[in-house]
Amino acid sequence: MQNKGILYLIPTPIGNLKEVSPRILSTIDEVSYIFCEDTRNTQKLLNLLGKTKKTISCHEHNEKAMSSKAIELLENGENIAYMSDAGYPAISDPGSILVKECINNNIKVTPISGPNAFINALVGSNLDTSHFIFYGFLNSKSSERKKELESLKEFPFTIIFYEAPHRINETLKDIYEVFDNRNITIARELTKLNEEFIYSTLEELASNPREYKGELVLVVEGKINKKETKLEEETIKTKYNELLKYNFSSKDAINILSIIYKVNKNSLKKILY
Ligand code: SAM
Repeated sequence: MQNKGILYLIPTPIGNLKEVSPRILSTIDEVSYIFCEDTRNTQKLLNLLGKTKKTISCHEHNEKAMSSKAIELLENGENIAYMSDAGYPAISDPGSILVKECINNNIKVTPISGPNAFINALVGSNLDTSHFIFYGFLNSKSSERKKELESLKEFPFTIIFYEAPHRINETLKDIYEVFDNRNITIARELTKLNEEFIYSTLEELASNPREYKGELVLVVEGKINKKETKLEEETIKTKYNELLKYNFSSKDAINILSIIYKVNKNSLKKILY
């Protein structure tokens, strides 16, 4: 009996071509076809990488039907890959139906490691990375969005959202309204030339709408335990006074405490002044 093929999930750059790894390149060589979210985008990437491969369109509107085609090829022993437009397939992108169909048909699925927006945003966020929720996109309608936020507001874990730049100010307003004030980090244009991390609070950003250009990830602090916060505030005040006694300037003391306690500088100033 012929061996079945393997479905490889290949992540693609989220802005920096240098993030294509040797394993991604060799996997592209090994497969017979690349099923992809948008054949034009994948073709552009293949051209940049100097690769020639047959591409087959498989996007959110035809994924179920195209999965049958993929299964047929895999059952015949062909290895195939799935690529979305940026980052990992199946993370706020198509790919999960295809994975499900493969598992249901006893076909091996092998994800290849690579670029993804929310992990970069989280690890650079200065917020708790030990426990977190990746939520992806909130609903585009404010009333629905607020319902989703209500269901998330009690979680004491860092929460990560994807958002489009044209909706960010209204989303920040809704998050502030439902979550109240918390630390937030916006990661913008990750892996690109203009990559930026904005470390701030929901209060500050919601009350100062501005233009955010490019692609964005929002990393929001989880629900804060009020009792612990009170204790931490007392410790921060004591440590601040100790640093001043050792002749650190107020600015340097705040910088140091901001790193140690992972609290942004404006929040520290509110506690201290
Ligand atoms: N599959 C992708 C992944 O693994 O990260 C996510 C695709 S989703 C359709 C696109 C969203 O990811 C954007 O709206 C933005 O929130 C986030 N994103 C993608 N690239 C980014 C980048 N370079 N910088 C910041 N956020 C990015």
